[in-house]
Parts: sequence; structure tokens; C-alpha cells
Amino acid sequence: AMRAGPRRGPGAGRRGPGAAGGRGRGERGMRKSRTGQSGNLSTTVDPNKVVEIEPPITVKGLSEALGVKVTDLIAALTFKLGVAGKNINSFLSEEEVELVALEVERKIKIVERKEAEEELLQDLHEAAKEVESETRAPVLTFMGHVDHGKTTLLDALRESDVVKGEAGGITQHIGAYRITRDDGAFVVLDTPGHEAFTSMRARGASITDIVVLVVAADDGVMPQTEEAIAHAKDAKVPIIVAINKCDRPNANPMQVMQQLAVKGLQSEAWGGDVQCVEVSALTGQGLDDLVEQILLQAEILELHAKPDAAGEGVVIESKQSPEQGAVVNVLVTNGTLRLRDQVLCGESLSRIRGIIDDHGNQIQEAPPSTPVSLLGMTSLPSPGDKLFVITDKKKAKEVVEDRQRTARNMSLAERSAQTKVTLANLSETLEAQKQEELKVILKADVMGSLEPIKNSLDRIATDEVRVNIIHSALGGITETDVALAEAGGAMVIGFNTVADQTARQAADQAGVEIRYYSVIYELLDEVRLAMEGKLAPEEIEEITGHAEIKAVFRSSKFGNIAGLMIDDGNVTRNSHVRLSRDGKVVHRGTVSSLRREKDDVREVKSGYECGLTIKDFNDIKVGDQLEFFDIKYVKRTLS
Ligand code: GDP
Repeated sequence: AMRAGPRRGPGAGRRGPGAAGGRGRGERGMRKSRTGQSGNLSTTVDPNKVVEIEPPITVKGLSEALGVKVTDLIAALTFKLGVAGKNINSFLSEEEVELVALEVERKIKIVERKEAEEELLQDLHEAAKEVESETRAPVLTFMGHVDHGKTTLLDALRESDVVKGEAGGITQHIGAYRITRDDGAFVVLDTPGHEAFTSMRARGASITDIVVLVVAADDGVMPQTEEAIAHAKDAKVPIIVAINKCDRPNANPMQVMQQLAVKGLQSEAWGGDVQCVEVSALTGQGLDDLVEQILLQAEILELHAKPDAAGEGVVIESKQSPEQGAVVNVLVTNGTLRLRDQVLCGESLSRIRGIIDDHGNQIQEAPPSTPVSLLGMTSLPSPGDKLFVITDKKKAKEVVEDRQRTARNMSLAERSAQTKVTLANLSETLEAQKQEELKVILKADVMGSLEPIKNSLDRIATDEVRVNIIHSALGGITETDVALAEAGGAMVIGFNTVADQTARQAADQAGVEIRYYSVIYELLDEVRLAMEGKLAPEEIEEITGHAEIKAVFRSSKFGNIAGLMIDDGNVTRNSHVRLSRDGKVVHRGTVSSLRREKDDVREVKSGYECGLTIKDFNDIKVGDQLEFFDIKYVKRTLS
């Protein structure tokens, strides 16, 4: 029951910046201070009080909660902790928050607030507790290799829909459609292939109940077939195999089943648990069988929903239409959505002003497992966003405000930074997520290396963690690999193979880590180390400036003070320094005081004279060369 990596649901990343003291007094207090300048905060919070704060926490949020100036926090981050580049709206990790609090001598406790959205949903479910459950139609995604017949098969199934639109079957494209037959009904997500499935999963909205894997009987298992299997398996969605094109003279369903068995899909006919149905989208052969298996599988899954509850759904897609405004296509997952319902979706509250079904009909209400187009939405949500009827308008408004604020504050990079799984942060991530496995997508150049690496990775396991190779294949790293990694919270390992440019870009955007290796034992060693949590952060020196000592002043109070002129760059009160004489490094330490004229200063820039002392080091001479640097602690990178 492992969920995708550190990925959070779409709502999670959007909670408001850290609020003080939970939902009651503290929060109100914070609101107030938000309107004032962050300058005069120091007196408002008792420094001895333990302040509670909820992630995600921004510098600003922390400043407000602690009553410590933003500039002081940033100074502590930059100079004491060596964390550069933070601004008022930057997000801080929990570790950073704790360390900064220590630096500014405040007590802090990080608490997880139940997400407001979750709370609203819970209220909704609580209210529907007594409402009766009924069986609902399954939701299917068709996947498989290109040209194996997904589209044709979908069209053929659609032909058998008994409530096809009267006007010659004109259907409304709304991202999904419901097929009703005499033997039962099911919903098909309209974008066959991995993208829709993956992007929804990546957002924590897995609405697919069953994957129909389409494999051409004359072509067999191909790379995208394997990817589809990996996707479905990783998402723990049951697979039904449609062996298509069985009308073709060179069709060889037996061979397909053999190939599938090798990939871990054992046909029920051969004692396994996967239904393989031989079909032809062209002649219609086997389609009824396929539907029967789908409905059977749905029965086994015991899919239920409560039609009499308040409506709830997931956004499939949304677009701005010149005539209709925001059009939001939603699959109703529970309850019934009704005209004029007030709903929370994405970053706004809206009232439903129109419901259009997949046949283009205006309808009044939409029960569970109905794909519909909603009109009247006040913003464009993203696929995977939840939508639900609200009962508590005040709470809903809070959620919306929170989200709008965070959406503004959070840059794309920060969003992806929150979701990154890397080898270097693996042990923390796993712990934080209560995960017991490292998910890996493995690409290699030749079979001769792929197999041994797979076998060895399988054998690496500590008491807590094991490696789970969710997909492995020969060839370069592609965008699809990255998408799978993103959805599954995995990392990608390339052995003697590289990522193409689109894959690299996608990985950058999604925050997916790609690692390249060309030596097997290095690969294994690093994975092992990462799993054992032994990758200590790496120190990186960033040279900031240079100077030569021009004079030495002796002071009984401070020891020897170096008089110098900064040649290039700068020096700060917290700079690290390397002192060399005659080309040899004599000392490496830190600056302990920095003065211009008689004043203590924070920083001296190039071209200016200053005096400084070096911590615990007095043996300075005229002519000594000083090199100033900052030390950054970065998560160890493994390449
Ligand atoms: P997709 O890429 O998986 O959506 O594949 P398509 O549905 O576009 O089908 C690719 C090609 O295979 C088209 O030319 C179809 O006409 C053909 N095709 C699809 N299903 C069958 C089938 O059952 N039998 C035969 N003979 N051809 C098929």
C-alpha cells in the first residue's frame, strides 16, 4: 500500500504558508500581523513560548509566527546555515525551520494540520454516512502500443451504446464517455494511452478502476505495451488484456499470451489471474466477451458510490470557451451533482450553471460514474483537481483563500522541489513517507547489463528498504520513462544510456532524478549507500573574494588584526577564509570580526580597505594571501 513517493495530492502543495498556532487564536493573530509591516514584530511573540507552525512554511510565515524579522531569518539562513537564495516567499524545509529557530533562539514545534480541503471532504462524507451505497459503473483506461487498435476498439464499443445520441451519434468531447449496454454500463476515459492515466496519477487522482491493455495479435508485446503494464501494475489497477486484430491471418494470440506471461501477466486460461480476451475491433468478434470480463472484474472490485449524497468528482480537463466561458469536464465519483450546486474546485468557489452530458444533452443532475461538462465555473482547474459540493461556505472560503495565496507564492520550481525523490534524500524521503521501497526505472544499453543489474538491485535490501524496479527496458531514457517515474515517485537510472532532450526537460520540470552510470558496482554501491541513509551532505566551497594582508595591528583585546584591501569579490563577517603564504595553505578557518574604520560591518566589497581577525588564529603576516569562501551544504549528488 505504498503511494507514489513524496508526491502530495494536488491540494497538499497549496495549503497556505505556515500558519501559527493551528486554526484558532494563533491563526487569527497571524492574519492580523499579515496586514502590518513585518518590521515591528519582535515584541509581539513571547520568545519563551513554544510556537506551533504548520508546513508548508515560508520565510514570511515563519517570521510572523515567531515575531522575528524576515531579514533576520534570511541572515541566519544565509550566514549561519549556509542556505543561500531564500527570499521572503521561499519555502523552508522542516529541518531548515528548526535550525533557523535555534539560531534566533526561539522554540518551535512543527505540526501537521489536517488539510482544510480534507476536512471539508470529511464533513461531506460524514454527512453521507447513513446514505445508502449502490454499485457504480467502472471507469476504464485503454492502453497499449501505438497502432494496436485502441481507438478502433473504443469506437466499436461506442457503437454498441444503446443511448447513443439520436442525431447520428454526435458526441460531445468531454474527455470521457459512458457506454450503456443491455449487459451493463462503463465509463471510458477518452484519451487512450499513458499520458492521461499518468498525469492524473501524478496528481493523486487515480480514477481508473480497470486498465484494458490492447495488444495486437499480429505484433505482440511491444515497448509501449510494457510501459503500460508497468503503469498499471505500479498503480495497482487490475488489467484486462484485449488481444486485438484476431481477424488477421497472421494473428497469434498464443504467442501474445506467452510474451505477457514473461512480463508477469499470466492468463487465466493458463492458471494465472489475468483475463485475456481475443477480439477484433474490425469485425466485432469477441467484443461482448470483453465487456463481460470488464463487468465481471468490476463486480469483483465491488465498486460502490452513494447517488443520494452530495456530489463529488475529479476534473478530467478544462478549457476556456469563447461562448461558454470556463468549461470544466468532470467525472462524478460519488454523490450527485446538481444544477445550481455550489462547488469548490481548484482555486475557486462556483455555482453550477449548466451540466452537459457526453451526448451533448443539457441535464439537471449527474449521478456517480457520469462524465459531464460543467458550466459556470469561475476559474480553470487542473486535471486531477477535486470538485465537490460545499456545505460550509465559511470553511470553503478559507480553503480558497489559502490556495490562492499559496498558488501566488509558490513558484513552479518550488512545487517540484517538494516532490523530488533523489538518491541523496532517499532515506529521509522514505522515512517521511513511511515508504519501504525505492522505486526505480532502469534503462540500459544491452540485455547483458540490464539483467545482471536487475538481479543485483533486487538483492539489495536493508531491513527497512528494498528496491522496486517498476519498469526496465533497453534503450535511451524517454519522456515516457520520466512520466512514469513522476507518477510513481520513482527515479530513473540509465546504464550506458542517456536521456534525450525532451526527457531531460520533462525531468527538470517534474523534479524527477535521472542518474547515469557506466560501472555496475558503482551503481549498486550508491544505491546501497543511499538506502542505508549514509549519504552525508556534501560541503561545497563558493569562493567569494580575495585579499592580501597589507598590515598587521596588534590588539590586546582582539589579537592580531589584519589590515587589508579586498582585491575582488567581498568578505562578510561570517566568511570562511583560507590563508596561504608562499603558495602553501597555512590555515583554514573563519573570519571572527570585520571592521571598517571603527565600525563593525557585515560585509566589505572589493576595492575597500578593512580590518579583520581570524577565529583562533593569530599568526598572520604582511603578504599573506586570503581567500574568502562560503560553505554550502548540499545534498550529496551521486554522479
Ligand atoms: P491505436 O494507435 O492503438 O489507437 O490504433 P488504431 O485504433 O488507430 O488502429 C491502428 C490500425 O489498426 C488502423 O488502421 C485500424 O484500422 C487497424 N485495426 C484496429 N483494430 C483492428 C482489428 O481488430 N483488425 C484489423 N485487421 N485491423 C485493425
